[in-house]
Amino acid sequence: MCDADDDDDDDDDDVCVSVCVSVCLCLLRLKVKVKQLSLNLKMECKLRTQGGEAEKIYNSKEILVDFTDGEDEHDFLCVGYSSRRALMSCGHSVTPQSLTNWCQRQLDQGSISFVCGVCDAEWSFEDVCKMALLSDEEKDRFEQEMFRNKADKDPNNAWCPSCSSLVIRTDPENLCMKCPRCSVEKERDYTFCFQCLREWKGPAPRSDRCDNDGCVNQALVILKTCPNIEFSYVRDVSNCPSVRACPSCGLLVQHSGKQCKNIMCPGCRVEFCFMCLKISTECLKTSDYSMPCSSGVAPRQTSLPVRR
Ligand SMILES: [Zn+2]
Ligand SMILES: [Zn+2]
Ligand SMILES: [Zn+2]
Ligand SMILES: [Zn+2]
Ligand SMILES: [Zn+2]
Repeated sequence: MCDADDDDDDDDDDVCVSVCVSVCLCLLRLKVKVKQLSLNLKMECKLRTQGGEAEKIYNSKEILVDFTDGEDEHDFLCVGYSSRRALMSCGHSVTPQSLTNWCQRQLDQGSISFVCGVCDAEWSFEDVCKMALLSDEEKDRFEQEMFRNKADKDPNNAWCPSCSSLVIRTDPENLCMKCPRCSVEKERDYTFCFQCLREWKGPAPRSDRCDNDGCVNQALVILKTCPNIEFSYVRDVSNCPSVRACPSCGLLVQHSGKQCKNIMCPGCRVEFCFMCLKISTECLKTSDYSMPCSSGVAPRQTSLPVRR
C-alpha cells in the first residue's frame, strides 16, 4: 500500500497552501531516510560554507560528561570533528559541533524538541545545552526557534504582519485579528486578516475573506479545482479528486494514484481512505486496499475539517 510522489521540496513551495505529499506505511521509513540524508547533505554544505567558525571542543575540564573512544555518531557527513567524543543520555556519541549542527537541523525542520539521530530517544534541552556547549547567544536562538516552531504547529496562531508578534485566533468564525501590540503603538485598533495576512480591509467580522484583492482560502480553491485521479490498483473508480483534506486534521494531502487507496496524513499520522474519506480501519471493514469503497467516492470537500 502506498502513494509515492517524487516531487522534491522546491516543487512543493510553488503551492501556497501546503499540499502535503504523503506516503503510505510500507515506503514511509525508506523515504524518510532518503529525505533525511538529502536534507543532511544540504544542511551540512550550508554549515560548511558559513565556515570560518572554530569547531567547539570539549576540554578536559568538562565535568559530568562521559567520554568515549568510539566514533562520533552524529557526524553524518564524516567531517571528522577533532573534539573528544561524549555520550548522550541514550548512550550515543556526539561532539559539541556535531550535536549543535544536528539540533540546528531539527529546528530548521520544525521540531520543538531534540531527539537522538541514531535511536530517536528524546534529549532534554538542558542536556543539549550542556553537551553542545551552547553559548548564551545560541541558547537564546534555540529557545526562540523552539517557541516559533511550537506556535507554528497551532492552526489558531498567526504572526502579525506589522510587528511579527504572535496573535491567537479565538473566534474560528472571524478572520479579523486584532494585534494588541500594534494597537497600543499606533494608538488605534490595528487589525489584520488571518487568511491573507495583510492589514484588514472592509467590514468585520467575516469568516470567508477580507476586502483585500486576492484574499481567498487557497485550500478550498485547491480542493475545488484539483484534477481527478485514476487509481492504478483500484478498479472501476472515477471522480476521485487528487487532493483531499485529511478528515482528522484538515491538512491537504495529495495522492498520486499509484498504489493503494489509503494514505497516511503527514500532519497527524492518521491513515485514511482517499476515496470514501473514512479512517482506514473503518473503510477496511467493508472493503480492502484495492477494492472500491462500500460507500463509494466521497464528493469534493467544500470546507476544511477542524482538528479534533
Ligand atoms: Zn541515541
Ligand atoms: Zn502587530
Ligand atoms: Zn484577507
Ligand atoms: Zn491529518
Ligand atoms: Zn474507503
